[in-house]
Amino acid sequence: MNHNVQNDQGNLIPVRNIYCIGRNYRAHAAELNHDVPDSPFFFQKSIPALNTSNEIILPENREIHHELEIVVLIGKNGEKISASSTDTFISGYALGLDLTDRIYQTQLKEAKLPWLLAKSFKGSAVVSTFQSEKIQKDYWLKVNDEVRQKGNGSQMVFSISQQISFLSSMIPLMSGDLIFTGTPSGVGPIHSGDSLELGIGERSIHSLSVK
Ligand code: MG
Repeated sequence: MNHNVQNDQGNLIPVRNIYCIGRNYRAHAAELNHDVPDSPFFFQKSIPALNTSNEIILPENREIHHELEIVVLIGKNGEKISASSTDTFISGYALGLDLTDRIYQTQLKEAKLPWLLAKSFKGSAVVSTFQSEKIQKDYWLKVNDEVRQKGNGSQMVFSISQQISFLSSMIPLMSGDLIFTGTPSGVGPIHSGDSLELGIGERSIHSLSVK
């Protein structure tokens, strides 16, 4: 099983933990009938969820939704990181998909139970190659050549700095941790046979086929 992500220098970096923020874009929180939270909240995906391939193999008989997100790679250990110094802890930026079993997640939410099994099936944490530059242009997801999600990091409720500062005040961060930083609106189901493309500005950076 692959535990590594790759950067644009061709280096493989072992992943330690996968953290994800919830409800971090107003329009997405609204589309799922939620308010934005007063402080950030996070959930985790397990390591077997990591997917750096060009394939999504859908689990049988489950409806899986795409959530396009900027993903940051933590490059050194740290705890209680001040918001002014978070940049020195980031070693790369990628695009990813926080794949979600939405029906199961809704059932778990209603039962006030953890989301883990709706969020962390095999291959559910898709990540592209990491680049060293921040992702400042609009980023997007196309499904079968049609733009389904488009966002800009400036629309986040909690910035990447705020997320790292808050998370590291509660849990020490480790070199190799990934943080999925939230999805803009437009989430929806993917189906076997779909072609997905993730991009930044004019540039396509990762493609996937859904099996
Ligand atoms: Mg998400």
